[in-house]
Amino acid sequence: MTTKKRYERPVIKKLESNMPNKFGTRTEYEPVLQIERVPVKELIEKHGSPLFVISESKIRKTYQAAKQAFETRYPRVQFAWSYKTNYISAVCNIFHQEGSWAEVVSGFEYDKAIQNGVPGSNIIFNGPDKSEQDLRKAITNNSLIHIDHLDELYLLQEIAKSTKQKPRVAIRVNMDTGIYPIWDRFGFNYENGQAWDALNKIMFSGSMDLVGLHTHIGTFMLSPNAYAIAASKLANLAQRLQQKYDHEIKYIDMGGGFASRNTLKGAFLPGVDTNPTIDEFAEAITSALINSDFHPKNPPLLILETGRALIDDAAWLLGSVLTNKRLADGRRSTILDIGVNILFTSFWYAHKITPAQHFTSYTEDTVLYGPLCMNIDVIRENVTLPLLHKGDHVVVHSVGAYNMTQWMQFITLRPKVVLIDEAGKVHVIRDNESMKTIADLEVVPRHLADFEL
Ligand SMILES: *Cc1c(COP(=O)(O)O)cnc(C)c1O
Repeated sequence: MTTKKRYERPVIKKLESNMPNKFGTRTEYEPVLQIERVPVKELIEKHGSPLFVISESKIRKTYQAAKQAFETRYPRVQFAWSYKTNYISAVCNIFHQEGSWAEVVSGFEYDKAIQNGVPGSNIIFNGPDKSEQDLRKAITNNSLIHIDHLDELYLLQEIAKSTKQKPRVAIRVNMDTGIYPIWDRFGFNYENGQAWDALNKIMFSGSMDLVGLHTHIGTFMLSPNAYAIAASKLANLAQRLQQKYDHEIKYIDMGGGFASRNTLKGAFLPGVDTNPTIDEFAEAITSALINSDFHPKNPPLLILETGRALIDDAAWLLGSVLTNKRLADGRRSTILDIGVNILFTSFWYAHKITPAQHFTSYTEDTVLYGPLCMNIDVIRENVTLPLLHKGDHVVVHSVGAYNMTQWMQFITLRPKVVLIDEAGKVHVIRDNESMKTIADLEVVPRHLADFEL
């Protein structure tokens, strides 16, 4: 039986003999019919559209490669999973099974790590908003507390005096690494002496156990050299502590922020071709440390809190085409059921988007809109795509970082997240929201319960 081919209206195009246009060459030559050998169509039929899909084997492989990149260059390495990058418990637990500690930036994330079963001593507590209650809990659990500001330092000192336990602390240091603007709002500044001052305050108080030095210089960093500078500066602080107090720092925590393979908006070439690899970041950081004055017999533990670079490529967002429209200026626009409320990263990334069914050779520059009744709901401002039709499916690549934590419930309910395990089995790891999810949180006062229209 032959099925009738769908009509596609002819398009007149200026011949450009394969020159890249302003938005680069077309990248979609093949449809993505499957994710980890599970058909996209089947995933959507079973779990709905849109749908986040995460690959367990991709997470493990990326993690193991990153670990190897550092461990082959430096003797003592520990990763800590950045919860805010993706704190779906199943995802966190994959990292914990691989040996990763937890890195949290709020009381909520701290409790989530404890609930996931992470021992308190393997939790790194960052962030500017730690309540007294949070701090007491972290001290009792012997967690690593990274001090962000002086008020926190004084509060810790007070708590430490009233309890018998010495908190294990580090300070967060911000600094000039040649990348501007400097992220100088977190922690203590290196160049103006605040960091050294905070360290002296801790040493003189005698009530805390200064175990580490921490920095997190930014996110989606494209310069390995910035990390080399940061590592040297932390090594320098450690050296000064050694000289002045004969005090040994147990670890240097370089934070996260390594770029993933995604493409930033406005970049001419795809990120997969131009962004530094994990090996380049590892080489920069470990060289700086081994070239500093640390003794090879007892180098500090190197902690990495990299998030984005470990998870971005391990997740996809599947969606469906709602309709096509001609804009007033003649451009083609395609409206998807994926909005910026669940694809927050579309504000920064030019996400690669691939049709999930076979297509013909016609392409057209297209604006991709989401379904929200808001003008800012643009998934791609311009992308060269084959023609898509109502009901067709698309696959958005590399969505693992931040989307599943920064998503918003807006005019619709958040979709399911599924995990494909190493055997190809699909597990729902976060259910879709329902009317009940919302109703459970709301209270209608008695006098507003009824009305007549
Ligand atoms: C957000 C964050 C990370 C992870 O950053 P990525 O850019 O996802 O690698 C690590 N450490 C701290 C302190 C953070 O705030």
